[in-house]
Amino acid sequence: MKALTFKRGIHPPHGKHYTENKPIEVLMPKGDLIYPMAQHIGAPCEPLVKKGDRVLLGQKIGEAKGFVSAPIHSTVSGTVKNVTPMLHPNGTKVMSVIVENDGLYEEDPSINQSKDYKKMSREEIINKIREAGVVGMGGAGFPTFIKLSPPIIENIDTILINGAECEPYLTSDYRVMVEESGKVAEGLRIILHLFPKAKGYIAIEDNKPEAIAKMREATKNDKNIQILVLKTKYPQGSEKQLIYACTKREVPSGKLPADVGCIVQNIDTVVAIHRAIVRGRPLMRRIVTVSGGAIKEPKNFKVRIGTTYRELVEAAGGFIEKPAKIISGGPMMGIALFSLDVPIIKTSSAILCLTEKEAVLPPEKACIRCGKCVDICPMNLLPLSLNVHALHHEWDDFEKEHGMDCMECGSCSYICPAKRHLLQSIRRGKKTILANKRK
Ligand code: SF4
Ligand code: SF4
Repeated sequence: MKALTFKRGIHPPHGKHYTENKPIEVLMPKGDLIYPMAQHIGAPCEPLVKKGDRVLLGQKIGEAKGFVSAPIHSTVSGTVKNVTPMLHPNGTKVMSVIVENDGLYEEDPSINQSKDYKKMSREEIINKIREAGVVGMGGAGFPTFIKLSPPIIENIDTILINGAECEPYLTSDYRVMVEESGKVAEGLRIILHLFPKAKGYIAIEDNKPEAIAKMREATKNDKNIQILVLKTKYPQGSEKQLIYACTKREVPSGKLPADVGCIVQNIDTVVAIHRAIVRGRPLMRRIVTVSGGAIKEPKNFKVRIGTTYRELVEAAGGFIEKPAKIISGGPMMGIALFSLDVPIIKTSSAILCLTEKEAVLPPEKACIRCGKCVDICPMNLLPLSLNVHALHHEWDDFEKEHGMDCMECGSCSYICPAKRHLLQSIRRGKKTILANKRK
């Protein structure tokens, strides 16, 4: 069968050779653990502990405030050293709980409680996923229990598990599919239990044959689960593009996947659902790729949330040369980091330490009106025109040309021969418009 895909897109060098064949290594934390009270989209959590308190592994230390929020749990046992604003991977200071690890890993009695999900009601499962603090681990951090609670359950006919991992360098989802395929399959079965009219699909790009084989083997007896093979192309893993590639349905501007009968979940999120329901464990760990030309021994780690980025870089042998750029996430959509003394949070997927050659951004030149940015924009936008509107503060025109629909994939900046800073200007434009609306 022909590999599935979406319209337009690009083919950046994938850089996955550094870590794709490196099995996941468990990394135990050495220093203090830092838990920012904002690790998801929505209202930050309220700390439930104070300086001097003893905490246990799995204990809830941040209570969700508001509907769109997710609780936060300690990933070690130890003593609360402080509750104070600390640097977050997004570059801002966020109220955080700092825990001194006692190395005992004494577990909170509230965890490890589970029962057969087939005997649980929808409400019980959703509540357990909410209390486990599970959020979308593909980057956005949207609370998973909300995604699994669309207004009309019967309208959902497609559960899509996103195994595309189209961002260059990232191999954490790939390693999970290869090494933990049974947990991915079981997590999907739990979601399908919530949507009796739906069929499950695990969509994987065709540059990951081992993951395709493992997931086929793990689901060979599931009549309502199918493995879909995608053409390797960026940004294949973005929700709207994935839905189009797999179902040929288009999610209209301002609408959600559930409006076209789909629910999309990331690979590691599905494993987190499995752990929450089958093992009664809250979300406490992440698989993180540490990669890039400046890293001595690029690797994939299973790491406790709260561990600092510095500890991961040290565990990967440190630097072989001074990195020109450090990024949290992939090179296309990740965030530049200015300090390694920030913690792994629920949405951290990678630390990239790029050399001068990998990270260099040539100076901007004048647009030559070649149209390449228009040809490849997966959202069918006019990046060159949005760039002009953003630079001239023409916000009405920016909105009329659907600039707010830009998903910030960076494909236009990548392809532009004049090296125009298209994404940066469009991102700034979106932020300004949203800030003006809030005023
Ligand atoms: S790709 Fe760059 S040079 Fe070509 S039209 Fe777009 S902005 Fe202009
Ligand atoms: S305009 Fe936005 S959606 Fe289109 S290619 Fe550029 S960054 Fe991606």
